[in-house]
Amino acid sequence: MTSRVWHPFTQHALFPDMPLIECASGAVLKQEGGKELIDAISSWWVITHGHCHPPIVKAIQEQAAKLDQMIFAGLTHQPAERLASRLVKIAPSGLDYVFFSDSGSTAVEVGLKMALGYWRHGGKMRTRFIALEGGYHGDTVGTMSLGARGVFTASYEPVLFEVERIPFPHPGQEERTFAALEAACRGDDIAGLVVEPLILGAGGMLLYAPAVLAEMRRICAHHGVLFIADEVMTGFGRTGTLFACEQAGISPDILCLAKGITGGSLPLAATLCRADIFDAHYSEDRAKTFFHSSSYTANPLACAAANANLDVWEQEPVRDRVAALGRWQEERLAAFRNDARFKNVRRIGTIAALDVKVADQGYLAGIGPRLYAGFMKAGVLLRPLGNTIYVMPPYSISESQLDRVYGAIGEI
Ligand SMILES: *Cc1c(COP(=O)(O)O)cnc(C)c1O
Repeated sequence: MTSRVWHPFTQHALFPDMPLIECASGAVLKQEGGKELIDAISSWWVITHGHCHPPIVKAIQEQAAKLDQMIFAGLTHQPAERLASRLVKIAPSGLDYVFFSDSGSTAVEVGLKMALGYWRHGGKMRTRFIALEGGYHGDTVGTMSLGARGVFTASYEPVLFEVERIPFPHPGQEERTFAALEAACRGDDIAGLVVEPLILGAGGMLLYAPAVLAEMRRICAHHGVLFIADEVMTGFGRTGTLFACEQAGISPDILCLAKGITGGSLPLAATLCRADIFDAHYSEDRAKTFFHSSSYTANPLACAAANANLDVWEQEPVRDRVAALGRWQEERLAAFRNDARFKNVRRIGTIAALDVKVADQGYLAGIGPRLYAGFMKAGVLLRPLGNTIYVMPPYSISESQLDRVYGAIGEI
């Protein structure tokens, strides 16, 4: 029977058949019939400790039998209260309030709405945002507006809003970025800057230095422009520290988290903000209410999974695993640094990336789907971004599994 499912980012005409996955554990997805796939991209960057990590599974099971879901307006529950206070403790300092939603896109949308509300309720109409060229912040209309324009946004272009775009700080060209940011911040209608700290994810796994992030933060603070860090991908250890902002020694005004917040087990997102952003909405005037919600805001199962994730960070040697994975990636990348087929071999924390030298580059580079198919055949799940191959596995991947991943990259 033909499937009735419409899959995300999938051209069904070119990709009619999909393997059916039955179960997963650690870094492995198991297909119907038993074939194993190494999940070298953490199932779209969400799985941190490994699939079906036992303490997280257990927490979800226990919570499911107790309180499954409830309206989060006018009522509260322990898993959310506990999670919020723990997030405030571990996040960069100065972030005092937590708003829950359910995906990275909504975490960023909430950040935008917090910023707009903050300015409006404070009596200033600041309604424009600054974003990095090539950025990615999600697939809702607001977050698409912030992100890079291209083949993914072409059909929706007429309804996207304009943002001020500053150049990506390519190594050696950081001054251009700073100058553009300075100039943009001088506009009196700028509400905030939205950035992916230290690495553009979907934009091609491009890296920039912590000092650059710190300087962008300084410029925003100088002009009173809100600094919104989208740590949806980088959060929870990916770049080697719990949050990427730590490496620059900075605190954003608004911090967006999702993906790894539950260890990748259930959809949940959190947008953290400074007290004065909350306070700008705090009033006896009901018109200043923060008008955002989704049906499943702070779902108790998802909050329980997130609390279990934080327990894992506290109780298991996660930082050691992250450091080891970084070393293992570096060792394997070394062989590719002098390989004429590749360029821009790079790594931050647990994320490694390299570009295949081809004439046609970009997301629709013809080599992408061919590589994907070859990797799948070899039992390795890698989804190149155009001609960029990246390896972002769960922290529990073994050295021999990683060898298979790099073996496939070299061969295919
Ligand atoms: C994945 C991602 C998002 C969107 O998250 P979803 O959960 O897919 O909506 C936003 N920002 C960044 C940096 C991401 O990597």
